[in-house]
Amino acid sequence: MTLGFLKQRRRRNLKEKRFPASWRSIITRNFPMFRRLSPADQVELLGHVQVFLAEKHFEGCGGLEVTDEMRITIAAQACLLLLHRETDYYPQLTSILVYPSGYTAHETRHLGANIWQDADEYRLGHTGRRLGSLVLAWEDVRRGAANASDGRNLVLHEFAHQLDFEDYAADGAPALATKAEYQSWSRVMSREFAALRAADEAGIATVLDTYGAENPAEFFAVVTEAFF
Ligand SMILES: [Zn+2]
Repeated sequence: MTLGFLKQRRRRNLKEKRFPASWRSIITRNFPMFRRLSPADQVELLGHVQVFLAEKHFEGCGGLEVTDEMRITIAAQACLLLLHRETDYYPQLTSILVYPSGYTAHETRHLGANIWQDADEYRLGHTGRRLGSLVLAWEDVRRGAANASDGRNLVLHEFAHQLDFEDYAADGAPALATKAEYQSWSRVMSREFAALRAADEAGIATVLDTYGAENPAEFFAVVTEAFF
């Protein structure tokens, strides 16, 4: 019996567990997009939420105490990105840190040679390829979940970065099944990324947040927000 087999079995059991009615009403209340999914997709999503909640660790920051409402609202949005694909549930991610609202992160950046820069940066969320953690501001988690039509969603943004890390590179491409899929992904993405950069430079507003013009990884996160 391999570890993989045990993991699969544990996950199958979690998915088959009855989904608490109070949790479901948190999702329908806080994340209206859920109601627009087909019944089959709703079942799939709730199954993923059970696995996600069992496997990921949540931690409150800045004096916040994490509640079921927070865990479930975050999990439901994060698991939307797992529908209809083979998934290992964000394997690089262990912990989700939740702040009450935007927070200031202190960062030392390496600018080259012996030059380092200390900077305080105001953030709503953050994740990194080697961090194993993902940070979210609860106020913005809730706002993003409640509004399905503004093209903004903090949870989808940060978890899109985690999908991007599935193949161990922050290059704007999640793990894909075949070489042909990577080729077509790369073709479409290069074209659209260049178009967004050009629009950004020319000051033309597009449906995509121009933050996506920063680099391919941010582009993927921004288009994920806009798609949903
Ligand atoms: Zn980002």
